[in-house]
Amino acid sequence: MAHHQNQNQVKAKKHLGQHFLNDESVAEKIANTLTLEHYKTVLEIGPGMGVLTKYLLKKDLTTYVIEIDTESVAYLQANYLNLAPRIIEKDFLKFDLNDVFKGEPFAIIGNFPYNISTQIVFKTLEMRDQIPEFSGMFQKEVAQRICSKEGSKVYGILSVLTQAFYDAEYLFTVPPNVFNPPPKVDSGVLRLKRKVNFTLPCDEKLFFKTVKTAFQQRRKTLRNSLKTFNISDNLKANPIFGKRPEQLCVEDFIALTQLIENDV
Ligand code: SAH
Repeated sequence: MAHHQNQNQVKAKKHLGQHFLNDESVAEKIANTLTLEHYKTVLEIGPGMGVLTKYLLKKDLTTYVIEIDTESVAYLQANYLNLAPRIIEKDFLKFDLNDVFKGEPFAIIGNFPYNISTQIVFKTLEMRDQIPEFSGMFQKEVAQRICSKEGSKVYGILSVLTQAFYDAEYLFTVPPNVFNPPPKVDSGVLRLKRKVNFTLPCDEKLFFKTVKTAFQQRRKTLRNSLKTFNISDNLKANPIFGKRPEQLCVEDFIALTQLIENDV
């Protein structure tokens, strides 16, 4: 298929976190992180000029893209005619994805806009029942944080909440020089696979609140950082409360939530 580049390149806009990938082999490698298990549809966040999109379109998948930038959308419409009906010109964070997906499962992929990376992960966690797989590129430090285990310096809220529902793998590092303009830091590609047949065995709101509150004062023991939870003296004597949050694995946080739930 002839590929007519009948429009000028999009000029990168800083406030939209635009760093366009200009290395085809990296784009293809990111597209290939999808396992294609448990879904037939993929949503790419922030396609820009479609460097990653073109490799998604070669797969046995229905590809949708969501892009906030009007100029990028015009570029995609002109250069990827087959994609046109599946270009959503919206803010990923604000758009109700079920206006399009109607409760059906879909995977998420992207070379994500780094200014909203944490919010992208939180929205994914909210919609996890519909999202069996999530892969793509963040700042390296954020990708490492999401995948890190207890005891690591970067282990935190994002690590625990993500790994409660997904198996997280850090896949590879991408240097700044393959982007235009180059970002200041290295990037990292990860893949999240939703745990099969898993339901959180504790109150979800309390679990999120416990993890967030514990890490807000990560140097303190849980006995001190969870003061506002009004835990009974009896429960506070449990050795888990002598620990700091970075010492607890996901299962420990679940057990902790259950203890708090059952405290009288
Ligand atoms: N995937 C392209 C572009 C990556 S830059 C490439 O690899 O070259 C990040 C992209 O996310 C930009 O195109 C930017 O316009 C888009 N973007 C930024 N904020 C967004 C949001 N809230 N919703 C959807 N897209 C967004």
